[in-house]
Amino acid sequence: MLVVMKPQATPEEIQAVCTQIEHLGFRAHPLPGAQRTAIGITGNQGEIERGNIEELSGVAEVIRVTKPYKLVSRDSKEEDTIIHFPGTNATIGGRDLAIIAGPCGIESRDQAFAIAEAVANAGAQFFRGGAFKPRTSPYAFQGMGEEALQIMAEVREKFGLRIVTEAIDQETLALVEQYADVIQIGARNMQNFSLLKKAGHCRKPVLLKRGMSATLEELLMAAEYIMSEGNYQVILCERGVRTFTDHTRNTLDLSIVPAVQRLSHLPILVDPSHGTGKRNKVLPLSRAAIAVGADGVMVEVHNQPDKALSDGPQSIYPEQFVELINEVEQIAPVVHRTLTRGIQVEHLKAAAPDQVAHPAAR
Ligand code: PEP
Ligand code: MN
Repeated sequence: MLVVMKPQATPEEIQAVCTQIEHLGFRAHPLPGAQRTAIGITGNQGEIERGNIEELSGVAEVIRVTKPYKLVSRDSKEEDTIIHFPGTNATIGGRDLAIIAGPCGIESRDQAFAIAEAVANAGAQFFRGGAFKPRTSPYAFQGMGEEALQIMAEVREKFGLRIVTEAIDQETLALVEQYADVIQIGARNMQNFSLLKKAGHCRKPVLLKRGMSATLEELLMAAEYIMSEGNYQVILCERGVRTFTDHTRNTLDLSIVPAVQRLSHLPILVDPSHGTGKRNKVLPLSRAAIAVGADGVMVEVHNQPDKALSDGPQSIYPEQFVELINEVEQIAPVVHRTLTRGIQVEHLKAAAPDQVAHPAAR
């Protein structure tokens, strides 16, 4: 059920409706929009006696949502969700494109700093890097753990980049939430429902990657799990699905971008690195992702891909990233988008080591 408030409804009237919903034993999710606020109701098994709510002051109408996903749906919120990062000009969703770049995994402070400097100079606003790596083989590099998170916190201080990193279970989620600006939930965990619920309690945006054989509805339902627990800052990410093709690691399903945008207000990014697994395909598919209307791209960049401890073959060189961002900038206006580059390093005052705050100390 969805309570649509009148455009002129006051905050007190919205609060009174939420209180009444909670009083009935359900959960209220106020979703403010440009024209009006809608309040999603979850926790009900069947139809709710709408008379109780319809009569409250400020209510325009109470409608039944027939789709399985409710809070992620455009029925609940017509306008695109835009996620802001206080203190920066970076956003995810809306008109401005988001560019996330960095290595698959953080391997050392030197490696992270070299790549971060290159991607910041090129204009990325976000730095990605795994601290906890979900690997196919238990013998493969598993990530540097909390040390990698500390390195990324230093990268944020020094280069002004916002940090995106993956949590692979509930234990690592608590740590990642402490350090990161965006919590990534990977393809392998897209249907780890207990982890999704926990991420729903976090106060940081969640970047949810599509499972490698997930349908559009399954992806939206996974996002619904996070939102139903109260975290409305969810970013979807297409990263390729398993098919019979063998010329790429996965098949990047770009058609999901307009399909998501039709049904949901949530931002959707594209990851052409995992989507193709091949360095030479990352630039063409990044261009295509922007052309198809994605809200941005997430790409793997490495200064020494031949020595990378994970995903070297799909990691582009820093020079290629410069090319990528220049091309994306040119395509952006064709699809009515803009590209605001992150802060250039030379404009940032280099932080002295003692000024590099540990996130826990802030
Ligand atoms: C990643 O982005 O580092 C990653 C592991 O991706 P995915 O979950 O899409 O495989
Ligand atoms: Mn990777």
